[in-house]
Amino acid sequence: MSSAAALAWGTDRVALPAGRPIELGLLWLYVSLSLVRFGLIAEHVGALRGKLRDKNRELEVSLAHITHLAEHDALTDLLSRRSVSERLELLLAQPATRAGTADDAPCVALLDLDHFKQVNDQHGHQAGDEVLRRFAQLATSALRKHDLLGRWGGEEFVLVLPTCSPQEAERLLERIHAALAEHPWDEVAPGLRVTLSAGVAQHEPGETVEALLRRADAAAYEAKATGRNRTVRAARNGA
Ligand code: GH3
Ligand code: MG
Ligand code: MG
Repeated sequence: MSSAAALAWGTDRVALPAGRPIELGLLWLYVSLSLVRFGLIAEHVGALRGKLRDKNRELEVSLAHITHLAEHDALTDLLSRRSVSERLELLLAQPATRAGTADDAPCVALLDLDHFKQVNDQHGHQAGDEVLRRFAQLATSALRKHDLLGRWGGEEFVLVLPTCSPQEAERLLERIHAALAEHPWDEVAPGLRVTLSAGVAQHEPGETVEALLRRADAAAYEAKATGRNRTVRAARNGA
């Protein structure tokens, strides 16, 4: 519109290659149609930009969804074994962790549901799946802000408590034991009861992730061997 106005105002100053009125009229028609065409092209480009913005937004949502799927377990929606291991590696590599005092170093706990094979055998695999899902929710509600819970595999889970004394870790596990004891499991299957055994280990200076997990695993094994439905604190290295 403004180009048309400028042309109309400046016709006598612009040397348009037209002499007769018919030539001038045709030239004006051509210029006007070109302006309309530019307008339409601009509108089309605007619409394409809008579509591109929408597509980008859809891509971002899809990417977030795919990232979530890659990092989480499909049944329980907890972190997968790989992503919790990666986060634990990063946590232990942090200078603050390596320089941390013995009392607030990260703790790791391995949790194993007791006699879970019997849950499947007596109440069916679907009931077993529902127990795993409910356990994930119950345990997640007991966590503090920066704690991580992952599915280690099958009916085994791993807890990462970034700054934690072993006593705090044991208290947190007590809350999980209590939540399991109070949960109305009859909703899943009549007579069903769910307990777990856990081993807790606190990271020691220079200890590798594998060595830390081995100590937590040994403590969980001891919890099984000494009656189940309990938490055992791992022995310190060299103790
Ligand atoms: P323990 O107290 O010694 O840990 O005994 P357990 O029966 O829990 O241990 P075991 O290793 O003998 O059995 C684990 C069972 O967990 C066997 C397997 O079928 C079941 N399980 C593993 N993953 C899943 C799953 O995704 N869904 C269901 N429903 N069951 C699962
Ligand atoms: Mg097991
Ligand atoms: Mg088990």
